[in-house]
Amino acid sequence: MDDLGLYVHVPFCLRKCAYCSFYSETGLPPDKGKAYLTAVTRQLRQFSSIRPLTSIFFGGGTPTMLPPAVLSSLLAECRQHFPCAEDAEISIEVNPATVDCSGLTMLRQAGFNRLSIGVQSLHDQELRRIGRPHSATDAIQTAHLARQAGFANVNIDLMYGLPDQTLQTWQDSLAQALALTPQHLSLYELTLEQNTPFARQHAQGVLLLPDEDTVLRMLEETQRMLSGAGFCRYEISNYALPGFECRHNINYWQNGEYIGLGPGAVSCLGGIRRNAVADVGAFCQLMETGQAVWQDEERLESEAAFRETVIMGLRMTAGVSLPELRRRFGIDAEIYYGTTLVQLIQHGMLEIIVDRQLRLTEQGLLLANTAMAELV
Ligand code: SF4
Repeated sequence: MDDLGLYVHVPFCLRKCAYCSFYSETGLPPDKGKAYLTAVTRQLRQFSSIRPLTSIFFGGGTPTMLPPAVLSSLLAECRQHFPCAEDAEISIEVNPATVDCSGLTMLRQAGFNRLSIGVQSLHDQELRRIGRPHSATDAIQTAHLARQAGFANVNIDLMYGLPDQTLQTWQDSLAQALALTPQHLSLYELTLEQNTPFARQHAQGVLLLPDEDTVLRMLEETQRMLSGAGFCRYEISNYALPGFECRHNINYWQNGEYIGLGPGAVSCLGGIRRNAVADVGAFCQLMETGQAVWQDEERLESEAAFRETVIMGLRMTAGVSLPELRRRFGIDAEIYYGTTLVQLIQHGMLEIIVDRQLRLTEQGLLLANTAMAELV
């Protein structure tokens, strides 16, 4: 049976990081938290269960801005309303500045079985520069507390290509992160998003970023250190020990079905993708007055869904299965893309391997955006 994910968006943060363009609000007054909770609980009851959930993901924002008891009862509501597969992956993102030992223990006991820690760097100077509200020591402490709380599946998020970051400090952050023995690492290159402080600083010429060669060497060093530690790169930015690949995200990259709860969350069910309004106040009011919360609704035509599935699937190092694409969409990718695909293969960007998997080559992974632009 196909996977079905549930995403709960908690759009509150202690403060805004300088690179972030995700929808979230700063601070959390108690009445707003209460209204948010009531609205999300109402929204989840509007969905009927079509099959058991295979993953649940509480993300944000910073979910742990809500007290652990509130998160636990929200998870209980979700599991009461939707049947859940026995082996469902249940993740929560945490910011090291917002959790302690008893809170993590409560989350583990509530049923969260995967913890994703937003670390970003293990250098205080870099953390300050990007506007994170925690220190390297806080992050290390959180990873240790996660173990004590009983989490056996821990992800650490790190970023490279940061202002003032050097190859040496990146290697050092990676080495320190590996020493914390996570099962999964998400490693994101800094991108300058519109309307962020970093985009403005860049426009003013005051953002000193590592040059392209240094970023490339950071990536090479990442590959060397992580493969040496037994990690497999299974997606452009994600590495896992065998068996710890993130099921929830794989469902996105396979263009599967998912339900999104909360302001700004996206749902994709039955070929329809819908976006909830990205504003806590408006979202709560719409829910309270029984109106639809969707600000966008799009029916995905078969051909558009096919192309999306190819593009998203190529993010994974396993690539996409050509027979599976034909089964899902009735389209033969080799005929559909014709000479474009042949040329990408001839230029060493793509390859078709055993079981007719189409995937990016090593070189293609370095130039993924260029390769994908040809297939959009
Ligand atoms: S904590 Fe995460 S969601 Fe919040 S501002 Fe920072 S990067 Fe964005």
